[in-house]
Amino acid sequence: MLQSDPVDVIVIGAGIGGLTAAALLQERGISTTVFEKNRFAGGSCSSFEREGYTFDAGASVFYGFGDNERGGTLNLHTRIFRKLQIEVKTVPDPVQIHYHLPKGFDIPAYYDRKSFLDQLSARFPHEAEGINRFYRELDEVYTIIGSLPAGSLEDLTHLASIGFNHPLKAISLAMKTFRSMGKTAREHIRDEELLRFIDIEAYSWAVQDAVSTPLVNAGICLADRHHGGINYPLGGSGAIAAALVRGFEKFGGKIRFNSGVTDILVENGVARGVRLADGSEHFAKTVISNATVWDTFNRLIDDSRYQVEEERFLMAPSWFQLYLGVDGAVIPKDFYVHHILVDEWESYNRPGGTIYCSVPSILDPSLAPAGRHSVHAFVTAEMEDWEQFERGSSAYRDAKESLAASLLKRMERFMPGLSEAIELKVLASPLTLERYLNRYKGSYGPLLKPGQHILQKPQNTTPVKNLFAVGDSAFPGQGVIAVTYSAVSCASSVARKLGNPLDYLE
Ligand SMILES: Cc1cc2nc3c(=O)[nH]c(=O)nc-3n(C[C@H](O)[C@H](O)[C@H](O)COP(=O)(O)OP(=O)(O)OC[C@H]3O[C@@H](n4cnc5c(N)ncnc54)[C@H](O)[C@@H]3O)c2cc1C
Repeated sequence: MLQSDPVDVIVIGAGIGGLTAAALLQERGISTTVFEKNRFAGGSCSSFEREGYTFDAGASVFYGFGDNERGGTLNLHTRIFRKLQIEVKTVPDPVQIHYHLPKGFDIPAYYDRKSFLDQLSARFPHEAEGINRFYRELDEVYTIIGSLPAGSLEDLTHLASIGFNHPLKAISLAMKTFRSMGKTAREHIRDEELLRFIDIEAYSWAVQDAVSTPLVNAGICLADRHHGGINYPLGGSGAIAAALVRGFEKFGGKIRFNSGVTDILVENGVARGVRLADGSEHFAKTVISNATVWDTFNRLIDDSRYQVEEERFLMAPSWFQLYLGVDGAVIPKDFYVHHILVDEWESYNRPGGTIYCSVPSILDPSLAPAGRHSVHAFVTAEMEDWEQFERGSSAYRDAKESLAASLLKRMERFMPGLSEAIELKVLASPLTLERYLNRYKGSYGPLLKPGQHILQKPQNTTPVKNLFAVGDSAFPGQGVIAVTYSAVSCASSVARKLGNPLDYLE
C-alpha cells in the first residue's frame, strides 16, 4: 500500500472553500496537501473553454473584492489575496442583477444604493418609508458584521474575544442572528407584490424565500452589493481558483489533481487521513473535507453512526444549465451582465420557474471570440427528473433540447432574437453537475428547514475528531463569498488547534 509522508493537514477537494483554507494554513507554515478528484480546481467556481469561448461553470456574481472597508469580515477576497501577495484583476459591475418580473416589473439592483431605492420606491410609492426602513436594517447588519473579525460561531475563543472587544455590537448581532429576512420585511412592508420582490431578492442567491432566509445572510449580500459591490475577475470565475492555487503553491503547498478520495480513515472516532481511488493512503494530524455534508458522511466514511439523513436539512435542488456562444448583435445596447427572469410568481420557486442569466463577456471581452458573447443561463432542476436517463442516449438529448428551447423562448423577453443568434450550445443537467462537481445529486447544498436557525447549520467541526468541514455545506452556506468565510473560520480553528494561530486578515 502506497503512502506519503504525513503532513499537518489534508484537504479533500479544491473548491474555493478547500483552496482558501489550504492557502491560509500553508501561508502560516502549516504543511498542507490538497487532493482534488478533477483535473482542474474551483469546482462550482471553475471555468471551461469550448471553441474559443470561456464559460463560468457556476458562479458569476462575485462579492468580496471591494476595497472601501478595510476592517472586519467583508471584502474577504481582497484581504486574502493581499495576504497571499497574489493579484486578481477585477472589473466593477454597475448592477448586481437586472430583475425582469411579472406584470412588466423591471428593476436593476444598482451599485448605487440611492438609485436602487428610489426606483423601488417609484414603483411602490405607498411603501417608500417601509422600503427605506427594511433596507436600513440590512445595512445595519452589514455594518456590524463588517466591523467584526471573521470566525466560527462555535469557536468559543473567537466569540469570547468578540464579546470582550465589541460588547454592544456582539449583543446586537446576537439579537439579529435569530431573525428571518422575510419576517423582518413584514414588519415594514405590506404590499404583496413588493413582498414577492423581497422573496426573489433572497431566492436569487439563497434559493429560498425571504422568510426562510436568515437576516444575517441577507445583510451580507444585499447590503454589500452597495458597498464593496459586485466585481468580475478578468479571465472568468476560474481565475479566482487559479489565483488561490498559485498562492497555496507559492508557500510550498502541494495539490494533487485526478486524486479522488474514496475514504476518510477514521480510527476510534478520530480522523487519521484519507485513502485515494488508487488505493494509496495518506496521513495527517487534521483532515478538512470540502465535499458536501452527504458526500462526506455517507460516502467517504463507512460508519453508520456518522450517517447524515437527507431529511436533516432541506436539500437544495440542482441546476439545468445552458452555455451559449452567441452573435454579439443579439445583446441589446447598454445590457447589464446579470439577469433574473420570473414570468409568474406562482411558480418562481418551482423547477425552472426562475431563469438566471449572465453575459460576463460584456465585462471581459476575452471570454468570447471577437463580435461574439458567452452566455450562461440556468434554472433549478431536480435529480429525480433526470436520473432515469442514460448518458449519451437520444432520449436524454431530446429532454435537454426540449427544456433548453422553452427557456430560450422565455429569455427572448430580455434578449430578443436569442434563439436565432446561437453559434455554440452546451447543455448540462443535474447528471452533469453530479459528475463534474462531485456533489451528491448535483445539489446546491443543504438549506435550513423552516424553523431551523443558522446555528443548526453544519459548522466547521464535525462529530469525528480532527475532521473539519469547509465549503457551502458549512455555515454560512452557499455562494463564493460565504464559502470563503467558512474557509477563514475553518483555517482559524485548525491553526489554533495545531498551536499556530492565524493572524487577523488586514
Ligand atoms: C449554476 C451555479 C451558479 C452559481 N452562481 C453563483 C454566483 O453567481 N455567485 C456566487 O457567489 N455563488 C454562486 N454559486 C454557488 C457557488 O459557486 C458555490 O456555493 C461555491 O463555489 C461552492 O464552493 P465549495 O468550495 O463549497 O464547493 P465546490 O465548488 O463543490 O468544490 C468542491 C470540490 O471538491 C472536490 N471533491 C468532492 N469530493 C471529492 C473527493 N471525494 N475527492 C477529491 N475531491 C473531491 C470537487 O471535485 C470540487 O472541486 C453558483 C453555483 C452553481 C452550481
